[in-house]
Amino acid sequence: MTEPVLSASADLIKRALDLMPGGVSSPVRAFGAVGGSPIFIASGKGAWVTDVDGNEYIDMLSSWGPLILGHAHPEVVSAIVEAASHGTSFGAPTALEVELAETIVEAIPSVEMVRFVSTGTEAAMSAIRLARAFTGRSKVIKFSGCYHGHSDPLLVSAGSGPATLGLPDSPGVTEGARADTVVASFNSVEEVTLAFERFGDDLAAVIVEPIAANMGVVLPSPGFLQFLRDICSQAGALLIFDEVVTGFRVGWSGAQSALGVSPDITILGKVVGGGLPVGAYGGRRELMQMVAPSGPVYQAGTLSGNPVAIAAGLATLRTLVPADYPRLEALGLRLEKGLAGAARAQGIAACVQRAGSMLTLFFERGPVTDLASAKHSDTARFALFFHEMLSRGVYWPPSQFESAFVSTAHTEGDIDRVVEAAHQSFERIR
Ligand code: PMP
Repeated sequence: MTEPVLSASADLIKRALDLMPGGVSSPVRAFGAVGGSPIFIASGKGAWVTDVDGNEYIDMLSSWGPLILGHAHPEVVSAIVEAASHGTSFGAPTALEVELAETIVEAIPSVEMVRFVSTGTEAAMSAIRLARAFTGRSKVIKFSGCYHGHSDPLLVSAGSGPATLGLPDSPGVTEGARADTVVASFNSVEEVTLAFERFGDDLAAVIVEPIAANMGVVLPSPGFLQFLRDICSQAGALLIFDEVVTGFRVGWSGAQSALGVSPDITILGKVVGGGLPVGAYGGRRELMQMVAPSGPVYQAGTLSGNPVAIAAGLATLRTLVPADYPRLEALGLRLEKGLAGAARAQGIAACVQRAGSMLTLFFERGPVTDLASAKHSDTARFALFFHEMLSRGVYWPPSQFESAFVSTAHTEGDIDRVVEAAHQSFERIR
């Protein structure tokens, strides 16, 4: 094994640090949790990325989830080029939005109408506003370790980025913005029951990642989501599923269909934009008709429904075929078994938690069921693992509290290389 040369990345981060906070446009990219300097990416093709020094890596980050078809899929690239050649933004409706809306509504039965925005943050923030307007109530239950973007009321016990950086919350978020956010532990029926006993009449919504990805992958306990459904219905609160990560990822109809629980509002992002900025929120007609201009709940965006971005999302969803999901499941399982087997063979205390093609290797025996148990992970060992993998040509997400993503571009051979790299890495760090 030869260490990759990273001189061009090192030069760029020097310039970037002077110009941008942490040298990056989003915190976890800065490698703060794993140490060292971020690698600047020059290009991606299929399951691989190449950095600015020419080193190649099998990419297990997949842009944090959107790239279910891998990098620069020809169908997606040609849809982007085609759309851009007709003009990049109009601030007026286009046919593409109608087609993507039809695709989403057909795929997700709980969604009868949809509004496009540009990010998951915007979608979650808007969904909360809608829930408050619909119910005439203020409080929202969220779960510690679940991330729903960086809007003030939701940036409380928000998992991944803040967990990675050790920031409990963020300065700049006022007491007022937080006052209506009630935090419970993921999978805790007791805490949610208590919150409803205490705030029931004032609870507008429960927002949850139905399969959590932002404290690492954590599955809901059997019955937990149905319990949330029932308690919300009884109390007249709305149930919001944040499927930014899981939508079109764990199955064509998202986690809600895979787990058999129907929310009132669904939040989408990532895969639905195929690597370009698209977010969306949707639900039943009566709710969505409250959004402006049909109703009084204001929400707007200059670049919302941008034709180039929507074209990328549409091409991604049209290229995905039903057989892709069993294949992603098989590749995910191969990775899970490979990693777990390698850890066992090297005597590393670890557990692998997975839902389809999303997976976290926790340096903790597990099972991880909530943020508190996720935090038992040996993050120092994770950091060593990350760098060992990188030096073997595998780009793993640079945080213990994130998910790795398999795409349809990954082959069994790629997965086996990742497992072999993990095997060698474990040997070095045990
Ligand atoms: N919800 C979830 C579940 C997410 O994972 C993320 C981003 N990782 C968001 C919302 C926010 O999306 P965005 O980064 O597009 O604002």
